[in-house]
Formats: sequence, structure tokens, C-alpha cells
Amino acid sequence: MIISPKIRGFICTTSHPDGCAAHVQEQIDYVKSKPPLANAPKRVLVIGSSTGYGLASRIVPAFGGGAATIGVFFEKEGSEGKTGSAGWYNSVAFEQAATKAGLYAKSFNGDAFSNEVKQQVIDAIKADLGTVDMIVYSLASPRRTDPATGEVYKSVLKPTGDTYTNKNLNTDKKQLEPVTIEPASEDEIAQTVKVMGGEDWKLWIDALSQAGVLADGFKTVAYSYIGPELTWAIYTDGTIGRAKVHLEETAKEMNAAFGAGTAVVSVNKALVTQASSAIPVVPLYISILYKIMKAKGTHEGCIEQIERLFADHYGAANGPTLDDKGRIRIDDWEMRPEIQEEVEKIWGIITTENLNELSDFAGYQKEFLKLFGFGLPGVDYAAETDSVRPLPSLSSSPA
Ligand code: NAD
Repeated sequence: MIISPKIRGFICTTSHPDGCAAHVQEQIDYVKSKPPLANAPKRVLVIGSSTGYGLASRIVPAFGGGAATIGVFFEKEGSEGKTGSAGWYNSVAFEQAATKAGLYAKSFNGDAFSNEVKQQVIDAIKADLGTVDMIVYSLASPRRTDPATGEVYKSVLKPTGDTYTNKNLNTDKKQLEPVTIEPASEDEIAQTVKVMGGEDWKLWIDALSQAGVLADGFKTVAYSYIGPELTWAIYTDGTIGRAKVHLEETAKEMNAAFGAGTAVVSVNKALVTQASSAIPVVPLYISILYKIMKAKGTHEGCIEQIERLFADHYGAANGPTLDDKGRIRIDDWEMRPEIQEEVEKIWGIITTENLNELSDFAGYQKEFLKLFGFGLPGVDYAAETDSVRPLPSLSSSPA
């Protein structure tokens, strides 16, 4: 079939298998252009490994350090005449490239929150690797079924205090319009913490520990975001921020159980991903941020961020550099005062009319399309392509 983008609000309902493969290859090439990782983990489990930060977290240790990787994700396989999800095609391309490079790669497509998927992963580690020495937890999900009770929890993106009004970019209409969001109820806050907090991260580590498949001195990292004050009401002080506080508390609990420095939260840069494009206010902030950081030569995408995480932090002789709250800060370049002062200045004056001049909305749109495999150089988008791409190691499919 010939595949073109079909954008509906903040999602694209089609994705291009060859474009996704080119996107994965671009990231592999970046990692291979950097020096090999020092102190690289050798057997890595990435939970949420098919897109965004998780995909980069699979590519970096594999191609920068020769690691065997197991990836877990929740994606849709393509069928005749119907495209699969980008994360599916990314994972197919990753596995093909890893196998070609002589690297072990196995993937599990299913609900990471379930006991079944945890058990399948444990069985694979026992059979193939013995233990894992690093676990990256990079899930972004709108809902979670509690495996103990069967109850379904839903996360929301809302402020927690007062009603919040700010500028928002309608990415479809390419226009700025005010957005007003009512504060979350206590129940909505609790549900968001259930989905995006640390409970499931700890369930994974406990299950792996009880099964005896964690290497001595293993490390685990999960991702968070802080950002500037202008996004705090919707992010850091909002429902998702509460979940991230829980994530940090969970890291402390795990460190008490497994040893200091075992579990760390890494605060990452705001980037265009499928998860972040759904957050009000954030796409406008990202468009402004990209413009400023590109002009200063400090712009990074997921792969550059995660390469820095593994090279500068996990690769350092004394381990990661932590802030006063025990977190890794690869959002350091985003948060530099000269960058944020500029963002604030532009935020105050940006309108629909000067959007293209004052922000990198064009870059935002390009990045958004790339997430789905569109706009990659060297891909013939007018040519017929096969939407059915089997995942070489497929072990299970979502029910
Ligand atoms: P993403 O949407 O690109 O990736 C989410 C991943 O989770 C995918 O691999 C998806 O398949 C997987 N997933 C979702 N539900 C699942 C389920 N039930 N079972 C198995 N897999 C499931 O998101 P992202 O932006 O890369 O976010 C990853 C983490 O990074 C999140 O914790 C997010 O808060 C954090 N983060 C993101 C940003 C940003 O700007 N994008 C910044 C800082 C931190």
C-alpha cells in the first residue's frame, strides 16, 4: 500500500514502516558516531522500548555498548491494507539491525502492567541471559489495570490547585488559543499516581528480584520532567507531577531495599513524543524551546539525551552526578537561565501571527511526523510498501 500521514489532533493514525526503519537507523548511526560507552550495562531490560525515550534507551546500550536487550511495549501490528503503529515498526527495525550486528534482542508486545508479561520477561531472562544488569522504566500510558484487583485506573493531565488558563497551540489549526483546564479531583490525582507513579516500577523490580534474575549491583532508572514555571501548573504541580513525586519516593524505597544508587530518576528534556504532544501548553513551549536551543547549538533529541545519560552519567567512574534530591539532570541544558529567560520573553509576546517567526513550529511539525516515519530522507513515500512486518522475536501479542 501507499502510506501517507493521517493526523487527528495530537495523533497520527498511520505510520510508515520504511520511514520508521530510517528513523531508527538515524538514531543507531548517531550512537555509532560517538565513542563506545564506558562501564556499559551488558544485559538491559527496557520497559516502554518502542518509541521516544524508551526506544533511545534500547538503542544506546545496544549500539554504544554491545548490550543484549529485552524490550517491552504495547503496540499494534500492521495487517494487509492497514498500518501498524510506529512503535511496532520501530521495534521490527531495531531487532533487525541488532541481529545484523550480532546483538541479542527479544521483544514482548503486551501490557507491561500485567503479571503475565512480567512472568514472560522473567522466563526469557532465565532462559537466555541469566540476569539483567540494567532496567529502564519508560512507560507513558493513559491507563493501567491493577494486576492485583483488576481495577482500571486512568491518568489525566490537569492542574491540582486552581483552574488554569494559558496560551495553547492548536497544532491542527496552527493557531494560538487560550486553554482553560479545571483542576483535578482527589480521585483523578490518585488515579494518575496509580498509572504514572512508581508502583508498577517497583512491582517489576520486586518480581525480577524474587525470580533471582537481577545481577549484583544492578541499576534501574525511570524518567521524569520538571520544566520551567510557565508549565508547572499543568505538569510539575499538576496530576502528572504528583505521579512523578511518587516515582521519586519509589526510587528511595528501592534504594533502601537494594542499596544506595540502585534506583534513580532522570529528569529529561521536553521533546516531541507521542506522550508529550497530548499535554496542553507543552507543544507551544517545545516549539519556542527548539528555536532557542537550535540557535545556541544545544538542541538535543531523545537519542542525544539518552546517549548523554549513558556516557556522562552511567559511564562516569563514580557513577551518575545527582542533584540535591538525588536525581540525574539531563534537562540541564534546557534549564539554563539564558534559555529560560528567552523562552519567557517570547512566551509573553507570541501570537498566531508571529508563531513561525518566534518559534520553531515548523521543526515541531517535522519532528511530530518523524515519530510516525514520515519526512525521512531517502524514503520513497510514493512507492508501494508492505504494511505487514513481522517482529522477528515476537513472543506474545496483546489480547
Ligand atoms: P512515548 O509515548 O514515546 O513511549 C511510551 C512507551 O510506553 C511506548 O514504548 C509504549 O509502547 C509503552 N507503553 C505504553 N503503555 C504500555 C503498556 N500498558 N504496556 C507496555 N508498554 C506500554 O513516551 P515518552 O515521551 O518517551 O515517555 C517515556 C517516559 O519519559 C515517561 O515517563 C515520560 O513522562 C518521560 N519524559 C518524557 C518527556 C517528553 O518530553 N517526552 C520529558 C521528560 C520525561
